[in-house]
Amino acid sequence: MNKHQYDVIVIGAGGAGLSAVAAIPKGLKVAVLSKLFPFRSHTGAAQGGISAALGNLEEDNPLWHAYDTVKGSDYLGDQDAIIQMCNDAPDAIFDLERKGLPFSRLGNGKISQRPFGGHTKNWGESPVRRACHSADRTGHMILHTLYQQALRRETNFFDEFQVVEIITKDNSCCGVVAVKLSTGERHVFHSKSVILATGGYGRCFKVTSNALSLTGDGMAICYQKGIPLQDMEFVQFHPTGLHPLGILITEGARGEGGILVNSRGERFMERYAPSIKDLAPRDIVSRSIYEEIKAGRGIDAKDFVHLDLTHLGRKLLDEKLPDVTGFARTYLNIEPADEPIPVKPTTHYAMGGIPTDVDGRVIIDPDGSIMHGLYASGECACVSVHGANRLGTNSLLDLVVFGKRAGQHASIYSESSKLSELPSDAGYDSESFLQQVRSNTRGPKVYEIREKMQEIMMDYCSVFRNEEGMKKCASLLSELREDFQKVTISDKSNFYNYEMMAAFELSCMLDVSEATLHGAMLRKESRGAHSREDYPDRNDQDWLKHTLCYQEKGNDPTFKFKNVNLGKFEVKARVY
Ligand SMILES: Cc1cc2nc3c(=O)[nH]c(=O)nc-3n(C[C@H](O)[C@H](O)[C@H](O)COP(=O)(O)OP(=O)(O)OC[C@H]3O[C@@H](n4cnc5c(N)ncnc54)[C@H](O)[C@@H]3O)c2cc1C
Repeated sequence: MNKHQYDVIVIGAGGAGLSAVAAIPKGLKVAVLSKLFPFRSHTGAAQGGISAALGNLEEDNPLWHAYDTVKGSDYLGDQDAIIQMCNDAPDAIFDLERKGLPFSRLGNGKISQRPFGGHTKNWGESPVRRACHSADRTGHMILHTLYQQALRRETNFFDEFQVVEIITKDNSCCGVVAVKLSTGERHVFHSKSVILATGGYGRCFKVTSNALSLTGDGMAICYQKGIPLQDMEFVQFHPTGLHPLGILITEGARGEGGILVNSRGERFMERYAPSIKDLAPRDIVSRSIYEEIKAGRGIDAKDFVHLDLTHLGRKLLDEKLPDVTGFARTYLNIEPADEPIPVKPTTHYAMGGIPTDVDGRVIIDPDGSIMHGLYASGECACVSVHGANRLGTNSLLDLVVFGKRAGQHASIYSESSKLSELPSDAGYDSESFLQQVRSNTRGPKVYEIREKMQEIMMDYCSVFRNEEGMKKCASLLSELREDFQKVTISDKSNFYNYEMMAAFELSCMLDVSEATLHGAMLRKESRGAHSREDYPDRNDQDWLKHTLCYQEKGNDPTFKFKNVNLGKFEVKARVY
């Protein structure tokens, strides 16, 4: 195997990975490994904005932002981390601005801000304009700005290197194994610290806004090494995916005044969230859409509703929402200035992930013990600032705030520690996995298992869940895992063998689906994005706690519980 040595290795070149890179001092030797060319990271698809209480248009305050985030999280978010993030937000925005990010501007030159779901002023009184944006291409601008800064810093990029295993020894992480996609060769990256920033896993579900690459790799390779995954039962379904494709129409469209209507032309959110209506948090809006559909008020009695932007006028749509209105024209041949857009909930964001503290250090048990040298940030991590439901625009903020903190802490750690020796079996697990897949001659294809998995996760583990459906899903999922042992690929070459890597990604998706499903079966209450038809109420007495899911090879996973950091904001009923 090819060997490399670095002080810090960052896995993933999206917003989280590149924010970490920006925080690492020049004296340290850094490598960034990414299975995609950096610009193709999903951060580039983020549309609506990034939140910070700048108060450019009206009074705002980081504590209101923190309050909204805690309430949005259905009180499962850790309040210390949330307050940290919201306090750091204004500086994080100015830092991006100084790095060259072209934000949309107000007439007076200040950064433009718009309303987003669940963001309010005066402790929930009415919506506030808090989302800073670059038209509806905010993530694209963040990604390009940070990538340019990383090049300026002379970072070593290993593009199209797919990490397939982390190397751990005595409770510390000392590197990773990656496959170079163009040659199929395996490379060992030996390092003092590793920062995982590999994004989410929306591709486990049939309908999703997520890119093809979001297959939960980083989470799964931790899970396989005995590191738990936290709060995996909480998956966000964004209310406005284009019907039937699932491509996202940003919440910014409702922020600019768009409204949801049913087959009777009623603005139905007035009934579900009387005060903030269409700008209620995503879990509430997604459930409301399904309630309308269940009651027969879907458009043409089908499983979608309308997002009406026609009253906003062509000028506003062109200036503030050019990309998403373009999607409606391109994919559905609909002109949003003249006719409403058909939408339905689409799998969007993982609230759960690799547990970390506020410095990005990976936590391995309920007492907060850490895996030395291992860090995680961005969507693959769970700090947890989003709890049971993330507010729109808080993910991009999470990436830049906690990406930076992970980069800073990993640097301090790497400066004061030596390269530890690699264990003798480094890379053994991934090597035997890849060989097994290559040598299988008879069995199902990757896509066959993947399609079935995506269907059962969508059918039984999406916006509404119940015991009966999830039990069925669990038995089907374990059958798929058995089938996967025999998965075969027809391409046995080494050159860009995407079929082989798709098999690896499928193994990751089966792992994270297992954690999600079993977490959802375990949690017998409804909180945030996790809605159980058989347990419709939130139950703080028994369930105001985080779940940590541990893989048990060949058996169902086991769980431990971790306390929620409460403190400043009292746990209350969540009413909008
Ligand atoms: C359509 C869409 C719109 C969104 N809009 C917004 C918004 O307006 N505001 C907001 O706050 N949030 C938004 N989000 C959410 C937000 O964009 C994401 O949560 C965030 O960008 C994730 O960033 P990340 O850096 O964690 O991961 P990503 O940007 O997904 O990057 C992951 C990186 O990891 C690499 N990688 C993955 N696996 C491997 C592996 N095995 N080996 C090597 N490299 C690997 C990839 O190559 C990639 O570089 C949106 C999400 C979507 C899908």
